[in-house]
Amino acid sequence: MADAPRTAEQDRAKSKKISALSALWPFMKPYGWMIALAGTALVITACMSLALPMAVRRVVDNFDVAETSLLDGYFAAALGLAALLAVGTAMRYYFVTRLGERVVADIRVAVFDRVIGMSPAFFERIMTGEVLSRITTDTTLILSVIGSSVSIALRNTLIFFGGITLMLITSVKMSLMVLWPIPIIVFPIIILGRRVRRLSKENQDWIAQSSGDASEQLLSAQTVQAFTHEAQSRTKFHDVTEHSFVAARRRIGTRAILTAIVIFMAFSAIVGFLWMGASDVRSGIITVGELVQFMIYTIMVAGALAALTEIWSELQRAAGATERLVELLSADDAVTDPAAPLQAPAVRLGEIAFEDVNFAYPSRPGVRALNGVSFKVAPGETVALVGPSGAGKTTIIQLLLRFYDPASGRVTFDGQDLRDLERADFRRHMALVPQDPVIFAASARENIRFGRPDASDADVEAAAKAAAAHEFLMALPEGYDSYVGERGVMLSGGQKQRIAIARAILRDAPVLLLDEATSALDAESERAVQSAVDTLSQDRTTLIVAHRLATVKKADRIIVFEEGQIAAIGTHDDLVAQGGLYSRLAKLQFTDGIVAE
Ligand code: ADP
Repeated sequence: MADAPRTAEQDRAKSKKISALSALWPFMKPYGWMIALAGTALVITACMSLALPMAVRRVVDNFDVAETSLLDGYFAAALGLAALLAVGTAMRYYFVTRLGERVVADIRVAVFDRVIGMSPAFFERIMTGEVLSRITTDTTLILSVIGSSVSIALRNTLIFFGGITLMLITSVKMSLMVLWPIPIIVFPIIILGRRVRRLSKENQDWIAQSSGDASEQLLSAQTVQAFTHEAQSRTKFHDVTEHSFVAARRRIGTRAILTAIVIFMAFSAIVGFLWMGASDVRSGIITVGELVQFMIYTIMVAGALAALTEIWSELQRAAGATERLVELLSADDAVTDPAAPLQAPAVRLGEIAFEDVNFAYPSRPGVRALNGVSFKVAPGETVALVGPSGAGKTTIIQLLLRFYDPASGRVTFDGQDLRDLERADFRRHMALVPQDPVIFAASARENIRFGRPDASDADVEAAAKAAAAHEFLMALPEGYDSYVGERGVMLSGGQKQRIAIARAILRDAPVLLLDEATSALDAESERAVQSAVDTLSQDRTTLIVAHRLATVKKADRIIVFEEGQIAAIGTHDDLVAQGGLYSRLAKLQFTDGIVAE
């Protein structure tokens, strides 16, 4: 939370005016025909509105003199104009609003498409809740802009300029009388408008921040409660929300002042003009009809101006929102697919090699998580990675999935540098069982099928059997179709792991990456998980970040990591015979209680 105002300030420094809205153009371009229709409707209705006062003047001036038929004609014409206005307005509303909804739906999808593919370095910088807030709140602002504000702004601009032109045609003197205050009205709008824009961006930043915080706290509600941290969590959320309110309140205050200035100026002008107009009518310089026509134009022009100031700040808010979305859309990803990826061999053998790999996490550039790491895993081999916590074992898996790139050295898959391959192309051949299995809020069956969406029910069940998950799944109230809750809250740790293993089995990839759970399971779950892992690692290249001696002993080879470097490689017996870190770890750390012989 502490760095929120800092990033907000950075954002604001970058903040450009309304021009930021131009970034929306690529999203609107495909719907040119809708824009054209909306634009036509808009111009027609504005012209109709501008023509109406003329009809009114004719009616007023000919009230006493004209023949009844002529007067009837004028009334009929006015009615016709009103009908056209009604249809035109309805058309404008329909196309403009539809365009807004369409474009915003496209933007939401584009942002999600982009973000879901971002490498982890991106998520280290931004909270997921914040991304969500941008997808929801910021797009809503854009919706209001495209779906109405822009069309209201255009309409009012047309009315404003058209009205002024017609006023000048009607009477130059009276026009000057009404128009001189406009520069005085516009000046505060520009000054205060800037302030509104800045405050609204601040407000949005705080909202995004509070969503980020809330989602994090809600996702860990149990931990919050277990540590009786509710009070602090509430205070923190309250503070952030309050910050967003304060920014909003300042924005509203500024807008209120702006509105007061505009209304007073506008009405002063109208009063002044009426004063003068009334005396002109008396002295016969103008007709009553002209005065009425002029009056209506004045009100229309003033109304248009008021609407424009109102919309202006809306547009500015939306410009801020657009900026943030564009930021997400154009965020650089440290890891990208090559422009011309290498052709993958027809059959993947599953050979893995690290060649003198050095690596530091982008968020901690000074600390080498891997330092000169070289090793090779033959196809079908099972290799256990062991070492104290923080030694770099999980980092190996992260590089192997190319979530990050090494600073120097190479990571290869069947002899090809991962950086020369399309990521989806090699990830397809890897099955990951993460330390903390990720279970989605869906049925157990869908969770397993996540590994291979086109798998049949029979395949899913076969995978579950191999993962020793079949029995407990059948015991659930609705079997495989039981809903397992958000993040699998309705399952035990061991059950979640077995579902994750079933998912990996179903993926049927030549390479298995397994980050063994550090949490101890009960003996029975442990055995079930162990036998599932054994099944899974047969005939596959397997890399296991191992925490249990039983797993380690079954591996063909063991790589011992220490502070980002390889301390030793060998079989269990070799390494025990060597003494050193491995034998100490075997005695101390491995958690299955068997002390190394
Ligand atoms: P192990 O799996 O052996 O316990 P890791 O590979 O997870 O260790 O971590 C190696 C080192 O990298 C540790 O010092 C850890 O603090 C650091 N590290 C891990 N993930 C990140 C990250 N996303 N950003 C910065 N540093 C990280």
